[in-house]
Amino acid sequence: MRTYRIAAIPGDGIGKEVIPAGKHVLEALAKTADSLTFEFEDFDWGADYYRQHGVMMPADGLDALRDKDAILFGSAGDPDVPDHITLWGLRLKICQGFDQYANVRPTRILPGIDAPLKRCKPGDLDWVIVRENSEGEYSGIGGRVHQGHPIEAATDVSILTRAGVERIMRFAFRLAQSRPRKQLTVITKSNAQRHAMVMWDEVALRISKEFPDVKWDKELVDASTARMINRPGSLDTIVATNLHADILSDLAAALAGSLGIAPTGNIDPERRYPSMFEPIHGSAFDIMGKGLANPIGTFWSAVMMLEHLGESGAAKRLMRAIEAVTASPKLHTGDLGGSATTAQVTEAVCELIANSQ
Ligand code: ATP
Ligand code: MG
Repeated sequence: MRTYRIAAIPGDGIGKEVIPAGKHVLEALAKTADSLTFEFEDFDWGADYYRQHGVMMPADGLDALRDKDAILFGSAGDPDVPDHITLWGLRLKICQGFDQYANVRPTRILPGIDAPLKRCKPGDLDWVIVRENSEGEYSGIGGRVHQGHPIEAATDVSILTRAGVERIMRFAFRLAQSRPRKQLTVITKSNAQRHAMVMWDEVALRISKEFPDVKWDKELVDASTARMINRPGSLDTIVATNLHADILSDLAAALAGSLGIAPTGNIDPERRYPSMFEPIHGSAFDIMGKGLANPIGTFWSAVMMLEHLGESGAAKRLMRAIEAVTASPKLHTGDLGGSATTAQVTEAVCELIANSQ
């Protein structure tokens, strides 16, 4: 019997709807598996907490999470609170505090989803994007001088460390090796960014020697956007810097049919700290409180969490239930062109799980 201690942080907007839905399907899974239970602890951090306390999470917040097995996170964002506060004050604090240096985003067109690439054959688009999540373009280092004057200037410093590049490359090669095609594409821009990206390429070449069974290639980030659309089947596992992967993974989510479906994991591969799983969508205030949010992105994130915890049987059962639901158009939410509610999708997944014993 294994009990997993899970921190649930709904955050803002539709995060408050999809995280309870996610807990619900995990409870349904636990009910039908003898050896699996979850102990959830909820944290009310986010923009409302900020309005009361002036911070998105308490100063000792990380200590409250430290001994959890994993974190299930909703979304942080609020029309009345500046983005840099909602982003840096909560999500990034957790990512950085727990050195979750690998951001992993599986992308696949699920059954029944009307994805925009009409030439794409089933199975063509089956990628995992690995995003460097701890340094690079989002180091937060930089500044502005002479504000308001004609000579005003500003910098954002992108820092890559050799140790940081080595660990993300090794993670990406290992992940590629674990997938059937054993194939990795390293995204670069070393033709124009002639220092850090050249080191990035050199490290990729060196780490590749540790994985002789992985086929790998290099692609410029600009060219890779065209390749994702013209030759999706030529890609499998993809590794890129923080900024490059940020852009590519939004493109990937759109190509797979909807922002509402896509999951992500912020992983500490060394397992020193809990890893954090979340849908990639934001707080979506336009549909908040109406029960219309698609909970699939959260459910798929829960699948990733179960895989990370080593519960591959439960992960497979949940994924099968998700695919059965997406295959049924009457269970599509608004973002997929349907009219189903969060509750209907959640109930359908729970029922499928109950019947899949
Ligand atoms: P944030 O500022 O936190 O990123 P946002 O308002 O930009 O939030 P996003 O989640 O990034 O919202 O998504 C943009 C739009 O896509 C939303 O306004 C919403 O209409 C739609 N959308 C996103 N996620 C979902 C979902 N899970 N279900 C249904 N629609 C969604
Ligand atoms: Mg957004």
